[in-house]
Amino acid sequence: MNRISHWIDGKVVESTSGRSAAVFNPATGEQSGAVDLASVDEVDAAVAAAKAAFPEWRATSLSKRAEILFRLRELVDANRKEIASLLTAEHGKVLSDSLGEVARGLENIEFACGIPQLIKGEYSEQASSGVDVYSIRQPLGVVAGITPFNFPAMVPMWMFANALACGNTFVLKPSEKDPSVTMFLAELLAQAGVPAGCFNVVQGDKVAVDRLLEHHDIAAVSFVGSTPIARYIYETGTRNGKRVQALGGAKNHMLVLADADLDMAADAAVSAGYGSAGERCMAISVVLAAHEIADDLVAKIAERLPAIKVGPGEEPGNEMGPLITGEHRDRVRGYVDGAAEGGATVVVDGRTDVPEAGYFLNPTLIDEIRPGMACYDDEIFGPVLGVMRVSGYQEGLDTINASQYANGTAIFTRDGGAARQFQFDVQVGMVGINVPVPVPVSYYSFGGWKASLFGDTHMYGPEGVKFYTQAKVITSRWPDPATSTVDLGFPETR
Ligand code: NAD
Repeated sequence: MNRISHWIDGKVVESTSGRSAAVFNPATGEQSGAVDLASVDEVDAAVAAAKAAFPEWRATSLSKRAEILFRLRELVDANRKEIASLLTAEHGKVLSDSLGEVARGLENIEFACGIPQLIKGEYSEQASSGVDVYSIRQPLGVVAGITPFNFPAMVPMWMFANALACGNTFVLKPSEKDPSVTMFLAELLAQAGVPAGCFNVVQGDKVAVDRLLEHHDIAAVSFVGSTPIARYIYETGTRNGKRVQALGGAKNHMLVLADADLDMAADAAVSAGYGSAGERCMAISVVLAAHEIADDLVAKIAERLPAIKVGPGEEPGNEMGPLITGEHRDRVRGYVDGAAEGGATVVVDGRTDVPEAGYFLNPTLIDEIRPGMACYDDEIFGPVLGVMRVSGYQEGLDTINASQYANGTAIFTRDGGAARQFQFDVQVGMVGINVPVPVPVSYYSFGGWKASLFGDTHMYGPEGVKFYTQAKVITSRWPDPATSTVDLGFPETR
């Protein structure tokens, strides 16, 4: 049985906690490994290694840190397929999707290679007579990342690339459902020249997370996962004096106006609704269809679904893999059961013709969903797309703005004025205009509003650099000793 352990102080460390969790291949339902679950002492050992490595790493020159990141960029690039296949084996998403995940993660390493430019401060010469004022950004110390199952490679890269580039040392607690890929990334980081102790992985569950949240040597916590846990991480971490950014769940709406190109909108809805089996925080889960075009749009989406090739992610040609666990598959299926009972119409029923092995559910389309139905109100996180019919722009906008979630949204229209108004009005963090999955490129930052983000700082990009550094302002004077006097007055700037 494949055993997945910790990475502490530059090497694999097997747990002695006596606790582990089974890891499955979601395409077969068979157990493929067992992941160690850290004890409090093991988390402490990882934090101690990171703390010991910090002074030397923060003193490492920017050009040296950039050089290491450039080398890491090359290593991740050269190992895309290896990372993607590890990812598919434990997550289930199809290989092409895993390769896409690695590519989007790699962007963040590429961004971090520019750290000498990104971390520059400001300088004001002669702010007062003979006085110069300047600002610098310094690392925080040991920072922790806690990541979800659905992007086991990309989300850690969102965090550690900037954290390390800024001079912090890092402790990662990946999802226990698909932990192998982070161990491979740890090896690549070591090969790239990241010194032992700068990057650590503790495998674990709530025990590890709670220890990280209370540990006095952890300065900041980045979290990505579901909303209830994000709220808990934010409240607990900030209560313990840490800087926290906690990204939560989502329910993303796509508003299709009557003037939209319906074939393009249907393609986009299918791609964004069923890609990665809907297990994306930026998946479209609700299509808001203007009344005039709703029948046509539903028909166009429905006619595309039988062509989607569902099957094991490693088999070439498959477009949609299984869900992460049997339990999650049953939960998703429960929403389809409940939708029909609640008065919605199941147009394409993905509960039928499902392979017996593995955690598959076929693409499902539900029409006539409404707020108040569980299939509308909850994040389903599966291959279930709902359609709600709206009178037009205003009802669509009001529906989106009434949602507790505000991660991503999209408008499909040919009307530039409507699109521009949408961008102005909509209360959501990431907006697509004829783009269904508007995940920002790495030189912007990623984050939702409302219950999709707890904290003030979005993740990666410029806000990531800000999150992982603290500002210091220096007021400096090199006076001529001959002019020195005692002056008890409050310093004026003239
Ligand atoms: P999750 O919240 O169950 O788990 C995320 C992390 O928290 C994991 O490392 C897990 O071990 C840990 N955890 C779980 N329960 C915990 C508890 N009670 N106490 C302490 N730690 C706990 O999320 P998931 O199921 O792994 O991922 C799917 C969720 O993540 C979805 O809700 C999805 O929308 C969200 N997500 C959000 C974003 C975003 O950027 N907003 C991105 C990806 C995923």
